[in-house]
Amino acid sequence: MDYLRELESKRVHDSFDETMKKVGRCVCVPGPIIVGAGPSGLAVAACLKEKGVPCVIIERANCIASLWKLKTYNRLHLHLPKKYCELPFMPFPAKFPTYPTKEQFVEYLEDYVKKFDLEPQFNQTVESANYDHSLGLWRVKTVGVKEFRYSRWLVVATGENSEAVVPEIEGINEFEGPVVHTSSYKSGETFSGKKVLVVGCGNSGMEICLDLCNNNAQPSIVVRDTLHILPREMLGRSTFGVSMWLLKLFPICLVDRILLFISWFILGDTSRIGLDRPNIGPLQLKCTSGKTPVLDVGTLAKIKTGEIKVRPGVKRTTCRTVEFTDGSAEEYDAIVLATGYRSNVPSWLKDKEMFSEEDGLPRRSFPHGWKGEYGLYAVGFTKRGLLGSSMDAKRIAQDIEQSWKAEVKPFTAFTRTPAPAS
Ligand SMILES: Cc1cc2nc3c(=O)[nH]c(=O)nc-3n(C[C@H](O)[C@H](O)[C@H](O)COP(=O)(O)OP(=O)(O)OC[C@H]3O[C@@H](n4cnc5c(N)ncnc54)[C@H](O)[C@@H]3O)c2cc1C
Repeated sequence: MDYLRELESKRVHDSFDETMKKVGRCVCVPGPIIVGAGPSGLAVAACLKEKGVPCVIIERANCIASLWKLKTYNRLHLHLPKKYCELPFMPFPAKFPTYPTKEQFVEYLEDYVKKFDLEPQFNQTVESANYDHSLGLWRVKTVGVKEFRYSRWLVVATGENSEAVVPEIEGINEFEGPVVHTSSYKSGETFSGKKVLVVGCGNSGMEICLDLCNNNAQPSIVVRDTLHILPREMLGRSTFGVSMWLLKLFPICLVDRILLFISWFILGDTSRIGLDRPNIGPLQLKCTSGKTPVLDVGTLAKIKTGEIKVRPGVKRTTCRTVEFTDGSAEEYDAIVLATGYRSNVPSWLKDKEMFSEEDGLPRRSFPHGWKGEYGLYAVGFTKRGLLGSSMDAKRIAQDIEQSWKAEVKPFTAFTRTPAPAS
């Protein structure tokens, strides 16, 4: 391939050799480098494999799907039905329930890796990746390894959830009980008999409250803002499925009205229990701000019975007491921060064009965010879950295949010995 030959001649002739003496080895990867072995990175690798394009997957953890294996609570199930969560070329087993458990999802991903014979390189954190304009290659460096890896293509698959968001709360260091982020929360058993404040009311915060309740804890949930809660199922089908179906027939504002009407019918008026809805509908809100509606799995019923209390924003904490923005105060034994995650891309990707430094997400909105300049790609940053990852993965593999063929074909034609004439 041209770039391998070029790299070799550079190595011999210019200051590149000097750099290598200081830094260490240089390895040319004969295909894309994928950073991250979560569902998105694995999906791209599988799509490439199907097209005969080799790749290298670099993963900071010691396993695939580290978010699911190491950073999620025990009772987690897929929030969406399995048919909307499958990766390319492999459906979920028919024996799995509609909403597989996290163990089942991990099992599915392990099988995916086996099926496509993927071999991620574990325990390697990418600390920098930058485009070398003189070589026309991406240069990737991992922590503690004296080696640069070079490739024509770089696929960013480190996810929207790579770092926990921990908000600054006045006095939180003085709080005497445990303060844990959802990434280290496993089960409500640990909090049995305790008063727990859950800060954040997304899907995780809501479900953790339910888990705490089911384990005889007394949870309160902080709801600072308006939010949309929808039943997980409506009209005998998943709410997600119903939305997708309705969107084929009606404009989004009408679909929102239909969803809200059915939700009101099933869940009642949520503002009566302190959960005001935003002015714009759930799907429009998702499109404009990326804010996902909460799919209720039973938490609302516990809020209605008063087993889970709703609290306004936190102003400050002291030894055991939490003061709220409405002036009220209450004592708690523990705090769970369900305050979400963010992308870590700006910390290691030196190219500032494709990803915003503010939120670490592609600057171009869906569906255009998957492709950048010079062979740079993003998978899993659409705020559309695993469905979005699968869509990205297919597009990326197709795009890379084209340039791969253009570069490999002339090279193989050049090296192949012609078959003897019969
Ligand atoms: C609790 C929870 C439930 C969810 N449920 C659903 C659902 O039901 N359906 C759905 O469609 N979506 C769901 N999502 C959203 C999304 O689909 C998942 O977050 C999914 O795991 C995203 O896959 P990913 O590969 O893009 O990112 P991740 O799973 O986060 O994988 C990224 C990988 O990159 C690695 N990495 C990060 N930085 C580096 C680095 N510098 N060097 C090397 N490796 C690095 C990480 O260790 C990680 O293994 C859920 C998300 C959460 C948090």
